Amino acid sequence: MIAYFRGHLGAKLFLSYLVVILVGGVTLGIATRFTTPTAFSRHLGMMEQMSADDAMMGMMEEDTDNRPGLRRGQGSSYASELYAGFQDSFSEALTWGALAAGIVALGVSLYLSQRVVRPLRRMMAASQRIAAGNLDERVPENGTDELGQLAGSFNRMAVQLQDVESRRRQLIGDVAHELRTPLTAIKGSMEGLIDGMLPASKDTFEQLYQEADRLNRLVDDLQELSRVEAGAYKLQLHAVDLSSLVRIVSKRMTVSFNEKKVKLTVDLPPDLPAVQADDDRIIQVLTNLISNALRYTPPGGEVTVVACRQENLVQTTVRDTGIGILQEHLPHIFTRFYRVDKSRSRQAGGSGIGLTIAKHLVESHGGRIWVESEGHDRGSAFSFTLPTSDGT
Ligand code: ADP
Repeated sequence: MIAYFRGHLGAKLFLSYLVVILVGGVTLGIATRFTTPTAFSRHLGMMEQMSADDAMMGMMEEDTDNRPGLRRGQGSSYASELYAGFQDSFSEALTWGALAAGIVALGVSLYLSQRVVRPLRRMMAASQRIAAGNLDERVPENGTDELGQLAGSFNRMAVQLQDVESRRRQLIGDVAHELRTPLTAIKGSMEGLIDGMLPASKDTFEQLYQEADRLNRLVDDLQELSRVEAGAYKLQLHAVDLSSLVRIVSKRMTVSFNEKKVKLTVDLPPDLPAVQADDDRIIQVLTNLISNALRYTPPGGEVTVVACRQENLVQTTVRDTGIGILQEHLPHIFTRFYRVDKSRSRQAGGSGIGLTIAKHLVESHGGRIWVESEGHDRGSAFSFTLPTSDGT
């Protein structure tokens, strides 16, 4: 019962109204209890004085004009005067009592309403400070009622805003850093060409072209990342044969695999169920994982794509015999711009965004993506799951 009142603002307000009424009533009772006798005895005193005066006058009049009718009427006028006196004294006591009750009820109402309004005012001031950019503003979370819960939600919102803001800053810093490297290279080559230190040969122009191309890819990747992070794309989900998607990607990449002399093996069971997916997006994920596997596997190595059913999911794994990933890097591999070997990845055209995009895409399908590696030069295995289209 107490817990119920503590946890509900409506119940608390109801209770506070009751308290105000009770306090008013009790004050009224006490005040009238003490003022009524005083007022009544004062009125009695006044009446006694008046009747004594009347008696004196009566006696004087009786001597001169003996009229019994007047004396007979004296009893009823005394009763009505007594009644009138009682009414007056009661009204007087009631007035004082009501005044006292009103003041006490006003005080109690003010105190109780302040208890409700104060946290709201605090939140309003805090929200204004947050709007002005002071994101570490928090409000005290007192109680478990709706106001306490509102304060909790308010603080969580402030934490999220702070998080978004810090990620925004981090992103701007990262992007600036990523753009600087190719731009510095382009600028350096241009200066060399202007000074005549670099020959205006095909090699120089090719080098410049590669840097510009890298910039172009980075900008494309960033655009794609912002789209997937904002969820600004609509998945066209339908039943998809995963084997055919793997075949499309492996066919597109055969030339690159042959050029680098890395073997690509696709090993899929014939009875693999259809998955509920957007085929373009899953092709994007497969392309990223298989091209990474090729990029980080030296000539003579092998990349294998396998898939199997796991209850109502299909798990696909891209395994390679390449450079592998050390244990300490595994938890960060899907973080944007994270690259184990920055210069090596950059030289190979990597931006450190591909896996972040793949993670977003897989998760938007209701799947999961993860990486396993035995360590340096022991290969890596990237796996992801997708729900089957029949859901069984
Ligand atoms: P990048 O474009 O740099 O490859 P990704 O987001 O695709 O960006 O990958 C992030 C980092 O993860 C890479 O820079 C690389 O260090 C590591 N990585 C990804 N795939 C592999 C793999 N198959 N083998 C070893 N390291 C990998």
